Amino acid sequence: MPSTSPSVDRTLPTEEATALLELTRELVREELAPRAATYEAESRFPRDVFRTLGKAGLLGLPYPEQYGGGGQPFEVYLQVVEELATVWASVAEGVSVHTLACFPLAAFGTEEQRRQWLPDMIGGELLGAYCLSEPQSGSDAAALSTKAVRDGDEYVVNGTKAWITHGGEADFYALLCRTSDDGARGISCLLTPGDTPGLSAGPPERKMGFKGSTTAQMRFDDARIAADRLMGEEGQGFKIALAALDGGRLGIAACAVGVAQGALDAALAYAKEREQFGRPILDFQGVSFMVADMATQVEAARALYLEAARRRDRGQSFGKQAAMAKLFCTDTAMRVTTDAVQVLGGYGYVEDYPVERYMREAKALQIVEGTNQIQRLVIGRHLAKG
Ligand SMILES: Cc1cc2nc3c(=O)[nH]c(=O)nc-3n(C[C@H](O)[C@H](O)[C@H](O)COP(=O)(O)OP(=O)(O)OC[C@H]3O[C@@H](n4cnc5c(N)ncnc54)[C@H](O)[C@@H]3O)c2cc1C
Repeated sequence: MPSTSPSVDRTLPTEEATALLELTRELVREELAPRAATYEAESRFPRDVFRTLGKAGLLGLPYPEQYGGGGQPFEVYLQVVEELATVWASVAEGVSVHTLACFPLAAFGTEEQRRQWLPDMIGGELLGAYCLSEPQSGSDAAALSTKAVRDGDEYVVNGTKAWITHGGEADFYALLCRTSDDGARGISCLLTPGDTPGLSAGPPERKMGFKGSTTAQMRFDDARIAADRLMGEEGQGFKIALAALDGGRLGIAACAVGVAQGALDAALAYAKEREQFGRPILDFQGVSFMVADMATQVEAARALYLEAARRRDRGQSFGKQAAMAKLFCTDTAMRVTTDAVQVLGGYGYVEDYPVERYMREAKALQIVEGTNQIQRLVIGRHLAKG
């Protein structure tokens, strides 16, 4: 199969997948690249870019075609996310979060619920968000306290969700909330419309990076949500949340590899051009070894997330591999982007080049969807179980 990215030698499973990656690269070149730096500098959320991606069929790639999805293997979907992240991580992460937000309905909804809502969600018109974290419960997600009380045909929801990507921008929220005091078994998942009365967004967080991605608290104040928007059964929410996160972590891993690849490409191009002591700095072994290590780490990281994705595509368990991929790919992105800044010297430390942004983005990826300490905890538990 032909490779789509000039700097990445991809092996894709079908001609259709190759065409999809080519389309993605075209969109990256024409829609994302010209705007990424400005939007990030101005903390602007590019809602219209998500519409464009939706129209191109890139917002529902791993979901079944019968509901308007792309019917693509996870390994193809993730490589699309990676390509987006080479230029604009806020958009790539947004696609990953949207895909995560659709998962509870796609995997746990009834046939009737899927037919009713899924086509709009994955068809590109609507944008999703995933509401698990709270101000007092992050890593210990099962300690969440946002409460949903059944009242006739509705749930009445009160509480605050924190750090919500697309908070205030999304059309629907996959909400994890408490329907009983029974610890992790007392959590349920409600697919909440964005225009629900009583649902409101706090001011956007002022973040170190990912400034083009809105992150905000979401407040539920006697918000009434129809009971038929319950995903799965009452009490199944935590299981749904964890299953969603297995796939979500692969999305973050792919994002991280894209960010690392973008930084590597920028560093390599610079090292070929920049001259000191009368020679391109790439001629110095100190620089070329650094770039060689960066490239090797990026390839290893890509191989790890792709292997986890292929396990998922084959229907095998992949939770341990997803945690390993999230851990390794995001730590790799942190190292590679830091080295990219070093390769550019002083020019790496200013906003005229994208590498300082890549470094700020890599840091967030070590934190979101379970910090890398929590990934180690997940891997350790898998190993202990044998
Ligand atoms: C940019 C951004 C976007 C986000 N988007 C979303 C979103 O869309 N939806 C959503 O629900 N959440 C989102 N989050 C929240 C994110 O998932 C949490 O920040 C993350 O899970 C960590 O929770 P916390 O920030 O409360 O940190 P804490 O849980 O308070 O952790 C603080 C530190 O303690 C460590 N720690 C905690 N417990 C342990 C342990 N048992 N062993 C070892 N170390 C431990 C952590 O690793 C960390 O270093 C987002 C966060 C950011 C920064």
